[in-house]
Amino acid sequence: HIECSGIVKSYGAHPVIDGLNLMIPDHEFVVFLGPSGCGKSTMLRMIAGLEEVTAGRISIGGADVTNRHPGQRGVAMVFQSYALYPHMTVADNITFGLRRAGVPGPEIDRRLGEVARMLGLEPMLNRKPKAMSGGQQQRVAMARAMIKTPKVFLFDEPLSNLDAKLREKLRTEIRKMHNSLKTTTIFVTHDQLEAMTIADRIVLMRAGAIEQQGTPDEIFDRPATRFVADFIGSPS
Ligand code: ATP
Ligand code: MG
Repeated sequence: HIECSGIVKSYGAHPVIDGLNLMIPDHEFVVFLGPSGCGKSTMLRMIAGLEEVTAGRISIGGADVTNRHPGQRGVAMVFQSYALYPHMTVADNITFGLRRAGVPGPEIDRRLGEVARMLGLEPMLNRKPKAMSGGQQQRVAMARAMIKTPKVFLFDEPLSNLDAKLREKLRTEIRKMHNSLKTTTIFVTHDQLEAMTIADRIVLMRAGAIEQQGTPDEIFDRPATRFVADFIGSPS
């Protein structure tokens, strides 16, 4: 499980996350939902270790990781902009981290084969990213995260640069990947319908705090505040 206790994040004097507490059980698929600027990415980046907490503790699988480097937390993150290396092939992009970490070649090849098969990338392994569509590039970014066999998957609006049809397809694949790898997943979006379709539990944020959390049905049927009702009911 992932546990965040008393998380505060300030840039200067004003806190953008203000004493947030959150428990995510193993294997749950959680969506952070909320309007622009409410602190979704900041929370995700602190869990990933890409950003320091101002106060509070984060533990993953029972271990306090608050002061651990990103590489030692067992998490992998996928961003909205895929940031692939343009001059490397798809295969090299996916395996770069493992090669840097000194994982033996045959082991790398085995894992590359596995993730490429899962994400339908086998025919593209020798291509360069610029010769691929946005959806294909985002698959490469997902493969690059997946090959690390993380316990925790973090997605920050991974689909918002894609068209509606592709978004739906990749959304289904991400959920399948979560189910079959039995990871714990946090998925950030500001799209209510996307959250409704993919989440076990939605954490609805407002101005650096949790406004309401619950299953999609609970949130949808029983919004706790006017803010939740307005946000869930507004066009995305
Ligand atoms: P969006 O849906 O637009 O991605 P978000 O919910 O992910 O929004 P964050 O990026 O977490 O929001 O930002 C939360 C708040 O923290 C915002 O007010 C933002 O301006 C502020 N913020 C984020 N990063 C920094 C930074 N490096 N320096 C100062 N303020 C920051
Ligand atoms: Mg964000």
